[in-house]
Amino acid sequence: MAEAAVSLRSAFHIARNLITVTNPATGQKITDVPVTDAAGVYAAVNEARVAQRQWAVLSFAARARALRRYRDVIIDSKDRLAAVIVSETGRPRPEVYTSELFQLCDAIGYWSKHAPKLLADEKVRPHLLKTKRAYVSYHPLGVVGIIGPWNFPFLLTIGEAIPALMAGNAVVIKPSEVTPLSALLGAELAGAAGLPDGLLQVIPGYGDTGGHLVDSADMISFTGSVETGRKVAQRGAQRLIPVSLELGGKDPMIVLSDANLERAANGCVWGGLFNAGQVCMSVERVYVEEPIHDQFVERVTQKVKQLRQGMADELVEIGSMTFPPQLERVEQHVRDAVKKGAKVQTGGRRNPNLNGLFYEPTVLTDVTHDMAIMQDETFGPVIPIMKVRDADEALRLANDSRYGLTTSVWTRDGRSARMLARRLEAGSVCINDHMVNFGVTEAPMGGCKDSGLGARHGSQGIRKFCRQQTVVIDRFGPNSEINWYPTTARKAKLFRRVVNLFHSDWRNKLRA
Ligand code: NDP
Repeated sequence: MAEAAVSLRSAFHIARNLITVTNPATGQKITDVPVTDAAGVYAAVNEARVAQRQWAVLSFAARARALRRYRDVIIDSKDRLAAVIVSETGRPRPEVYTSELFQLCDAIGYWSKHAPKLLADEKVRPHLLKTKRAYVSYHPLGVVGIIGPWNFPFLLTIGEAIPALMAGNAVVIKPSEVTPLSALLGAELAGAAGLPDGLLQVIPGYGDTGGHLVDSADMISFTGSVETGRKVAQRGAQRLIPVSLELGGKDPMIVLSDANLERAANGCVWGGLFNAGQVCMSVERVYVEEPIHDQFVERVTQKVKQLRQGMADELVEIGSMTFPPQLERVEQHVRDAVKKGAKVQTGGRRNPNLNGLFYEPTVLTDVTHDMAIMQDETFGPVIPIMKVRDADEALRLANDSRYGLTTSVWTRDGRSARMLARRLEAGSVCINDHMVNFGVTEAPMGGCKDSGLGARHGSQGIRKFCRQQTVVIDRFGPNSEINWYPTTARKAKLFRRVVNLFHSDWRNKLRA
């Protein structure tokens, strides 16, 4: 059945005017969705532009009221939404309620409450020009284009739209070709909630459609792979529009010998296998200090063996994977690791009892950094565990990566953990936890190195959707300023001395 899904998908690429959406857990076709061509993208952006002008003049309170109505409609439609998300991702249904629907509703509550404060005019006190007053104000950019991945097809499309809308923009979303239905339903519900026509639109399509969106929107918020992120950034650079990039990760988990072993093992299993490991912030590699390594491996392996894998509506922890080429990548990584000496503690193959894209939850040991599984994003249900001598070695290996999204450190010594955190090259560090930073909406979540530019959440998570403007006001209104014309001999002499007068210590001042 999995093969059937792969070959079906190859057929989609031939029929470029249609996307056939498939249930990855069953291989069954769900529906066909028309592809938006270039003219369709430009028409959508133009319509969004018209809607945006009226939306932008509304007060924050009015926008917040509209979005809260949208939240009510989402809550009323939660079972329908969950069914659609489950059907195109193959994820267990309970997981969809928490990580997609709960998070999205929370995003609406958070941004509608906090946007007025985060986007209020900011007073600036000039340190030098005491005769001036200044402030910075934030204005919507216009039409924001959101290009999203398939692993959280609702949260990372509609969810990302919420702060953009609160900031006064219109939004056009290009969802992943693999999972367009969740965002399409999100747009339909926005209409049902009374959001203005054209304000929140979804344009399904392949990469070309995303490219046309980059050519026409005023800003792009991209979530996806490093490779596509680079293309989007280059194309955006042609028009000099802002582009934010939330890209891949290869998140390390560091377990020190004084860690609460039971918590660390449970955290590792959940952090590595949540959404079948298809999370940018998944635990993708684990470094464990020598004295506790064997015990840790034993616990993690036992826990993974107890997990149930199956269809979305059964009571299971692990569902199917979502995208056929991703399953092949997981297989390649595990094959490469085993060939180079890794040991499979459990899993290590497609689930022979299930037909869809099910890969068994897997634990690997004896892994090294010359294996793809420790270098490239696997994005699947695999936990590779490596023994390290001490925290310094763990730190060196954790930083030996082109990615820098999130990291976790597990220890009872809070001070050491914070010191280690400072030396870790990652956008976020969780201590005795993993991935939980996504839930702290107040703090920026973004990556360094190849993991991206910009952030979602925190003040940057909404200000990135704004043009900032500095306003400087003269306070006293004299007829002229000292640096204005005409230039006189006295002024010329003074200007020569002014560098020393303002910026040197007293000995140099005298030398001026
Ligand atoms: P891709 O980069 O393959 O695709 C992302 C989106 O870009 C899709 O909608 C895709 O369309 C579109 N696209 C493809 N080519 C172009 C192009 N030339 N111009 C514009 N748009 C284009 O990523 P995946 O969908 O495979 O998502 C998985 C990746 O996302 C992983 O690397 C993961 O780590 C990352 N991710 C990062 C997160 C973060 O916050 N840092 C969160 C979640 C995921 P199509 O699907 O039709 O090809």
